[in-house]
Amino acid sequence: MKITDLARKNVLQMKAYSSARDEFTDTDQDFIFQDANENPFQSGYNRYPDPNATKVKEKLSDLKGIPPANMILGNGSDEVLDLLFRAFCEPKIDEIITTPPTYGMYKVLAEVNEIQLNEVPLTPDFQLKPEAVLEAVSDKTKLIFLCSPNNPSGNLMNTQAVKQILKNFSGLVILDEAYIDFAAQNSFVSELNHFPNLVVLQTFSKAYAHAGIRLGMGFAQAEIIQLLNKIKPPYNVNQLTQEKALEVIASAETYKNQVEMLISERDLLCKELEKISFVEKIYPSEANFLLVKVDNAILRYHQLIEKGMVVRNRTNEMHCEDCLRISIGTPKENQKLIIALQELNA
Ligand SMILES: *Cc1c(COP(=O)(O)O)cnc(C)c1O
Repeated sequence: MKITDLARKNVLQMKAYSSARDEFTDTDQDFIFQDANENPFQSGYNRYPDPNATKVKEKLSDLKGIPPANMILGNGSDEVLDLLFRAFCEPKIDEIITTPPTYGMYKVLAEVNEIQLNEVPLTPDFQLKPEAVLEAVSDKTKLIFLCSPNNPSGNLMNTQAVKQILKNFSGLVILDEAYIDFAAQNSFVSELNHFPNLVVLQTFSKAYAHAGIRLGMGFAQAEIIQLLNKIKPPYNVNQLTQEKALEVIASAETYKNQVEMLISERDLLCKELEKISFVEKIYPSEANFLLVKVDNAILRYHQLIEKGMVVRNRTNEMHCEDCLRISIGTPKENQKLIIALQELNA
């Protein structure tokens, strides 16, 4: 696989925007900066942020064991997804593959960019069909999106199936690991050296408890990262986010403990849900949510709203008829949910 064959020609040929801080990078010394039209009076935020988020990448590198050259940061992983489309998918010509039911953004981005979407459904128990995925590949297929643990089903994709797709597809495989910290399996980032076409996405929005700061991570071989960096908005990760991210990384232990608690809460909620007679099936989850099949999802959804509790109705997604997706809350919140369900059950 050659990145130059895969990427859009205009992206390969264009010149990247060059910011004041790209052209003069030494910010440590006592220079006087009159090159970026900033307001010179100190506010703590009067200067543009580091366009490369260098410090954040260094700390992430220690945390994840991935060199900074193999990392792209985005305004949420949604922005990294957007960059992948714009770097690799030629509007009205190229195609992508997704495996529904899965995260809704892949389809939205395909529509925005006028990219044909080929959907290869998961099995009814939400596993990949690697042969079917590979059969759906055409010479226009640039990206295959896999999500593991998958949203909304919560399960991990079979490792061998993911590898089979990686081995036999000459475009990029985007593996969305937004929920990997809740899973009993390691991240695919350790496979980056074995699969040059692998792009792993992670986020600060779930296990790291910072959806509000909008910080997503992409991990891939350096050539892919360089291309994405070339087209990203220069200051896409703002200074407040960079500062907060450093705090979060320094407190990684806190979030690990929260993840452990959420996993034990997930198991507890599972046991309680099994006792509710209108719950027909609880799908096994490696994420911080449960997909639950009930007798009548619309009815139960509205009954819970009346009790002040909001879950996600997924009944219209493939293989998810009458399914609710329930995010794991604090122990108190989960207890309230269980009591509400027991009242509806009585
Ligand atoms: C929540 C989620 C994300 C996170 O997106 P951000 O833009 O980083 O908040 C990505 N992928 C999936 C499958 C998700 O469920």
